[in-house]
Amino acid sequence: MKHARRLVVGTLAAGALALSLTGCGDSAAPTERLAAKTAQPTPATGSATPTASPSAGASDEAYKKWGLTAPLQYAPRPAQKPQIPKPGPGKVPVIDRIPVPADDKVVFLTFDDGAEKDPEFLKMAADLKLPISMFLTDSVASSDYGYFEKIRDNGSASTINNHTLTHPNLRTLSFEGQKKEICGQQERLEKRFGKRPPLFRPPFGNYNDDTLRAASECGVSSLVLWRASMQINNFQYAEGSALKPGDIILAHFRGPGELKGTTETQMATRMLQRIQEQGYRIGRLEDYL
Ligand SMILES: [Zn+2]
Repeated sequence: MKHARRLVVGTLAAGALALSLTGCGDSAAPTERLAAKTAQPTPATGSATPTASPSAGASDEAYKKWGLTAPLQYAPRPAQKPQIPKPGPGKVPVIDRIPVPADDKVVFLTFDDGAEKDPEFLKMAADLKLPISMFLTDSVASSDYGYFEKIRDNGSASTINNHTLTHPNLRTLSFEGQKKEICGQQERLEKRFGKRPPLFRPPFGNYNDDTLRAASECGVSSLVLWRASMQINNFQYAEGSALKPGDIILAHFRGPGELKGTTETQMATRMLQRIQEQGYRIGRLEDYL
């Protein structure tokens, strides 16, 4: 797990610092522009029959409207939460994959930063009842926190979590400096959304021992990384070339300016297609933590 994290960070380090605040250090590289079918949205029929899945209230036809050829599969809340290895005292655990059984093909959606506030994505997330763990950076998301509140409240049980005040590389900061970034955003989010977030993601996936202690002191319960990062058309994997059970997926609130003309909903459709092609269901991260 440690090795994998270094792999992610190492792969991305070169461009990470050059990115704007809207980036998480995993820019959409030109090499990721693989041949992908353009989504062909078809009109919704207006049907609103709820599915049987406990975590999904998506209408039967919503998947067609958003360019999918089959309904999304949602994982029910697990009967028992998986055992997450405990960190040392005063530190939060680092999680990049949920330890589910090898045959439990479930993955988890996370969206970072919050610069782009695409109204079409609001509709898509609500129509498909996507359970999204959002990691928001105050400096880019706060211009319209109401946007993310709508996603939280759309019936999908999506959540709002901490991604620092200003998106710094935490490794360059002192313990106190890191605490300011993490606790500061905990307080901002608590004031705005009425709840202190349980989850924290360090910008660019960069952290050190001070981060784990600072996050713990700020009331965070887990530091969340990722195993697959959605680019424009496809995933970039921390290792291998396919999703694995329990993978946490990273995507961003990004618009055409950062996605080479692709809209956020087109990116999200391709992400969901890739998940479906590999036979995975979508779970709600917080149900497993
Ligand atoms: Zn980020």
